[in-house]
Amino acid sequence: MLAERMIDAQLRIRQLRSGTHALIDLDAYARNIARLRAMAPGGAFMAVVKADAYGHGAAICGQAAIQAGADMLGVARISEALYLRAQGVTAPILVLGPPSEGALADAISSGVTLAVGSERALVAIEAAAGASGMSATVHLKMDTGMRRYGFLSSEIVAIAERLHASPLIELEGVFTHFTSSDDLVDTSTPGQIDQFERVTDEIERLGMGLRYRHMANSAAILRGQIGRSNLVRSGIATYGLSPSDEVPVDERFEPIMSIRSVVARRFVVQPGESVSYNQTFVADLSTQAADIPIGYADGLPRNVSNIGWFVIDGERCPILGRVCMDQVVARTPDGVSEGAEVIILGSGCDGEMTYADAGRLAGTNNYEVATRLMARVPRIYLRDGQPVAWEHLLEGDRGNCVPASMG
Ligand SMILES: *Cc1c(COP(=O)(O)O)cnc(C)c1O
Repeated sequence: MLAERMIDAQLRIRQLRSGTHALIDLDAYARNIARLRAMAPGGAFMAVVKADAYGHGAAICGQAAIQAGADMLGVARISEALYLRAQGVTAPILVLGPPSEGALADAISSGVTLAVGSERALVAIEAAAGASGMSATVHLKMDTGMRRYGFLSSEIVAIAERLHASPLIELEGVFTHFTSSDDLVDTSTPGQIDQFERVTDEIERLGMGLRYRHMANSAAILRGQIGRSNLVRSGIATYGLSPSDEVPVDERFEPIMSIRSVVARRFVVQPGESVSYNQTFVADLSTQAADIPIGYADGLPRNVSNIGWFVIDGERCPILGRVCMDQVVARTPDGVSEGAEVIILGSGCDGEMTYADAGRLAGTNNYEVATRLMARVPRIYLRDGQPVAWEHLLEGDRGNCVPASMG
């Protein structure tokens, strides 16, 4: 039985590798998390896995982050937290953003921690806790400059007193978020830290003990701007990607995901012929080309049309013409065979576009490029360079290559 399951798993991996797929290195993920933890010693660590772990797959990355020593997971929506619970994640999960009211009862009964950052959310969380007869664990969100979700620092102490007095609510933490920690010229963060420390000190002086006080995101951790806090929240750097060009991860960090595809068709574009929609590329010379089954509906930005590139057989292959919804054409060296592997995006160590390159070319950032990965692109997870698990969200399929021990 077990041997059969192993063979099935290997067959499945081969199937997935024959088309467009993502490779995610879970060892590199664990090493990135360990590096970030070491930069904020003594406190707790939240791995931010919102937006399906920035395109890397929250179900498997969430589990791997906890295994790697993360104390808590961060998401943006209650549905993301419930998804993690359904995958068996029992660790604390904080919903960082405004909660959707209809999901509050499920969040509370699943032990999901909620951010309170508006009067309406406060009232709704209390009501949902009352109706379910369970107390809600919350972190109070303080707006020190972002001007989105959160109470102003002038309001926070009074709100904390209300939460503290409520039998339905357990106030576990207070947090804020920096506006500009990824800018080289940053006139905001020191003032935000001051505001936060002043108000959280006041809350504690009034006898309301806080288990967690937290501010820093990846960029702030990398710059050492932790302030007086005992929890840091990191997303982008755990995936080995830089918060910005000005605040890069250092060379020890490893991008953990690479997108691969295959050459579906090889052909020659004759002089004067055009490629793809609207004839934006016209060959002046006879040009070797390959059709590749990846497009903007997989997450490859359309704005890299004619300016991006891939790597095939170790050679840089410029994109010819428009990126289509599902296909793209690239110039290739001679001798490329149909079925050859194409490196679409990755760490850049084989010469491929990085997420930052694609972001720059597409007029956006690496965060957006990573999170654009669509459900029809399957993911293969690696440990020791070998596949250990896969996930195909569109097919609703997930599995492990290493059979569980017979116990
Ligand atoms: C997304 C998010 C983070 C993580 O930010 P990174 O730049 O990816 O580290 C931290 N805190 C909050 C409130 C967030 O929304």
